[in-house]
Amino acid sequence: MPGGVNSPVRAFRAVGMTPRFIVRGKGDCIYDADGKEYIDYVMSWGPLLLGHAREEVVKAVKEAAENGLTFGAPTGRETELAEEIQNACPHMEMLRLVNSGTEATMSAIRVARGYTGRDKIIKFEGCYHGHSDGLLVKAGSGCLTGAAPDSAGVPASYAQNTLVAQYNDLQSVENLFHANSGEIACVIVEPIAANMGVVPPKKGFLEGLRELCDRNGALLIFDEVITGFRVAFGGAAELFGVRPDLAAYGKIVGGGMPLAVYGGRRDVMSLIAPLGSVYQAGTLSGNPIATAAGLATLRFLRKNKDNVYAEVEQNAKKLEDAYRKTGVAVNRVGSLLSPFFTKKSPSGFSDVKQCDLQKFTKYFGRMLERGNYVAPSQFEAMFVSFAHTDEHIGKTCRDIEEACAELGFDR
Ligand SMILES: *Cc1c(COP(=O)(O)O)cnc(C)c1O
Repeated sequence: MPGGVNSPVRAFRAVGMTPRFIVRGKGDCIYDADGKEYIDYVMSWGPLLLGHAREEVVKAVKEAAENGLTFGAPTGRETELAEEIQNACPHMEMLRLVNSGTEATMSAIRVARGYTGRDKIIKFEGCYHGHSDGLLVKAGSGCLTGAAPDSAGVPASYAQNTLVAQYNDLQSVENLFHANSGEIACVIVEPIAANMGVVPPKKGFLEGLRELCDRNGALLIFDEVITGFRVAFGGAAELFGVRPDLAAYGKIVGGGMPLAVYGGRRDVMSLIAPLGSVYQAGTLSGNPIATAAGLATLRFLRKNKDNVYAEVEQNAKKLEDAYRKTGVAVNRVGSLLSPFFTKKSPSGFSDVKQCDLQKFTKYFGRMLERGNYVAPSQFEAMFVSFAHTDEHIGKTCRDIEEACAELGFDR
């Protein structure tokens, strides 16, 4: 396997260390092949809002598996899951299940192009939307960690149709609309940027995108693959009260299994085959085991949402406070946070680039030594789950203070 891994950031290259091989996870902890226990803040990069091996989810998966792993035919659970998603996200008037966030955003863009008859799209520097060709332009997440925000192997003719704006800068979007009048199919955005570290939208940014799209006949796509079901049951669309035309969900919606979803306006989604002329398909789409895990997760969240979201936010706030005490900058929305090894909390990609990556590396090593598994990159988020105990959060807060103490930040 290239780099010994099946997804680049797992290789620990940015921090120059050896990745841990994980053999087991339960609740808020993972255990490596050497028998070491870690409090986990990566949580598989977002899916595990309920923690590892949550009883209700595992039970649903086992029961489903007993009855066959895949059919390639419609099943009841797909409809039940679709109803749960619609219940949480009313703008998902019509939706389709796929296997990964990459597929979801790629397909949403295809239908946006089909609907508008236009080729160009706008994305934001430092936002990550999966690894499809047209979206690997100035991308975040592992692309930043590997210092190559533009991938080799993407034809220039594809990349030409991807226009890049600056996150939290409406003027940069307006300029692109102006220079490409009548040619832009959609704007795709992480409503809370979380793949350059967490950067919340400035007040009015998402509303401004909504208005610019409406004024220019373009569709607004929220990539809620991280934020969906995390920052609120209805994701960022609910939290900020902005309705996208299309949205993509992944991670939590699959409860730890490979499942994602895209959808939105009925008139747009009606263009997908077999109803319309935009093709999109998948042998394992809506897989019975994946839908069982997703359904168990969303049902638990719906029934316990007041508890869950308040509790994870409270614990994330404690971590935020611990970073602040040491003088490290931090951004947080709900249970999603990132410490930034810089003076000022970043409000956009150019701020994020100012971070001291050597300090990050030292901090990472110290956290891992003390039994805290945080993302091995400055450009990722920290995920707090419902399984994190007060005791473990308390320990991590103390470890943060120790690990950051000697890094030379003013308090
Ligand atoms: C993780 C992620 C994706 C890609 O999802 P995969 O399941 O890894 O393909 C897309 N968009 C955002 C915002 C993500 O965080």
